Amino acid sequence: MEKKQAQVKIQLLRDKIREANYAYFTQNREVVPESVRDQLKQELIALETEYPDLITTDSPTQRVGAALDSKLPKITHKNRKYSLGDAFNAEELMEFDERVKKFLKVEAVEYSCELKVDGLNITLWYEQGQLVKAVTRGDGFIGEDVTHTIRTCENLPLTLADKVDLEVSGEVFIEKDDFEKVKNRPQTSGGTETENYKNTRNLAAGSVRQLDPQAAAERHLKIYLYELGDNNLASKPSTQTELFNAFDALHLPHQPSSNFTLHENIQSVINFCDQWSNPAEREKLNYDIDGIVIKVHRLDYRERLGFTAKTAKHAMAFKFPAEEKFTKLLDVQYQVGRTGAITPVAILEPVDLAGSTVARATLHNREEIERKGVMIGDQVIIRKAGDIIPEVLEPLLDLRDGSQKPIIFPAECPECETELDLTETVARCENLSCPARHRQSLFYFANTLDIEGLGPKSIEAMLELNLVHTPADFWQLKPLDLATLPGFKLKKIENLLSALEAKKELTLAEIFTGLGIRLVGAENAKLFARYIKEHLDSPTLAQLNEFLDNFNFEALQDAFVHLDGVGEKVALAMTDYLNLKRTKKLFKDLESVGIHLHWPEEIINTDSPYNDKKFVITGTFETLSRDEIKQLVTRGGGKILSAISGNADVLICGAKAGSKLKKAQELGLAIWEEKMITGTRTSKEESSALSLF
Ligand SMILES: [Zn+2]
Repeated sequence: MEKKQAQVKIQLLRDKIREANYAYFTQNREVVPESVRDQLKQELIALETEYPDLITTDSPTQRVGAALDSKLPKITHKNRKYSLGDAFNAEELMEFDERVKKFLKVEAVEYSCELKVDGLNITLWYEQGQLVKAVTRGDGFIGEDVTHTIRTCENLPLTLADKVDLEVSGEVFIEKDDFEKVKNRPQTSGGTETENYKNTRNLAAGSVRQLDPQAAAERHLKIYLYELGDNNLASKPSTQTELFNAFDALHLPHQPSSNFTLHENIQSVINFCDQWSNPAEREKLNYDIDGIVIKVHRLDYRERLGFTAKTAKHAMAFKFPAEEKFTKLLDVQYQVGRTGAITPVAILEPVDLAGSTVARATLHNREEIERKGVMIGDQVIIRKAGDIIPEVLEPLLDLRDGSQKPIIFPAECPECETELDLTETVARCENLSCPARHRQSLFYFANTLDIEGLGPKSIEAMLELNLVHTPADFWQLKPLDLATLPGFKLKKIENLLSALEAKKELTLAEIFTGLGIRLVGAENAKLFARYIKEHLDSPTLAQLNEFLDNFNFEALQDAFVHLDGVGEKVALAMTDYLNLKRTKKLFKDLESVGIHLHWPEEIINTDSPYNDKKFVITGTFETLSRDEIKQLVTRGGGKILSAISGNADVLICGAKAGSKLKKAQELGLAIWEEKMITGTRTSKEESSALSLF
């Protein structure tokens, strides 16, 4: 065949294969039998082999790219990826509905519901209609480049019907049928391929994140998209329904329309969640789902609602009731956590639950044991939900045979024998030098910072030989010290020392998280780190130490409370922690062992009218809630102050403003009324992200 002829035929084949793929994988229908589809593909491959210069990256044959030989490259997201808050019952859904309506100041909100596919979240970037990048969510800021495996998703177009730029997010998954096939396929190395994959989600995630696209292609990955981010679409969707219509026009795959429903009120949403809570209902699907995603249907409302430190405020993930079984409670052990909290752990007769064997479950705390009236020797109902630690729900009182014994909660720390504080719900060992707390904090630090070779066993051995007392001591370890530890040969010593060396550049948020400060999780740690950075002359540990030596307790606590997403208790816990003598000493030690701070890239909107200004809010507002105003300011790069001073730039002034307005006028501050604020809330709508996962 002549080249010109071949070129025409190649184009026809590609179009036909794309059409057949789209119909088969996205619309569940066949335009040609499967065998014919394969045949078309074989013909195309034959022609492309004859004329390799006619191969283009968007050809259906190019779904499998070249294997990469290094680790997956990291990619910074264009927009922060947020997760969803969880709801486990109708009550929590109603609270969500109340929060939404209160924030928006409206009487009713329409919701959409989608089945929550149990897979791996992926964000795709198309440029000029071509798929250029696929990125995992990662930590929400930085993900992994998995373009090479995502290209093998069978229902995903590499070229869109229109030459648009857009960012879309969705879930990569493996159908139940395909999982079964892969599961039973023998491996050359013996055993089966899915030995390490308990379910479809694990296998999907494992397939996406591997380096060899050929192996990924054999797993038959699929993707359903549900979010639209930055885009240059000619007409912007204004609801989730319109968004799916836009996807259809571009041939972007999403869940079947029958699994997407609209609801006028939260009661209707609750009924829908109830319906799918029945496992028999879920078994009919060929893919696994782990809940229902409930979203505010209007996209402008979503934009206004915004985010907490971690989650999108416009959506919730309803989680299905977990699997429950009963087994015998053999004994109770008491664990001392890094914050001194004593957790009673139930030792159980092993039982299979939700795909794994459970032999231990949490009894939560002393009060829970009393409330449930559990006794040793009882048959107890245990529950396991998703990744949550299994828990003891209640004893089966009817099955008692008289052999049961009461659980006696200790009055002293099982480890240091300090008398426990039993005044709160959670019993606590308040001894700051309790060896158990100490050990747990060091485990936690090493684990959070992911220091290779620094596992619990090594740390325990180091503690025994008095080699470490605080996290800073890890960087003081010498080869000779390590050689005294059991199992530490030359190679292992070298590896650990180089792993530590590699972790000398840390973000402040990582350090805060690793220190396991009570109530301060990874997301709050980022907020605190960012605040502190803004208040240092230069962002170094030396400057941080100066800051720690000189800060004013009340002022700092007050500033923390005003960070968007930080509550009073958390602010107090953080300030308390920073104020401890040993905290100040620890940071000085970290500096002297050579730790350097580095700072993550941030996504900041610098052309906002709020950027770099300080605001005070007063009065009552008609269409905006105070929370929404706070959020508009912080998202735009502004800061909220609690009181008027010469420090402030602008007073945001509602009706019935009192003394603050007078004082602001005296000080000559700018005064913004509600009208001006409502204007700013829609100005960024065009370009801003609706990509929320
Ligand atoms: Zn103790």
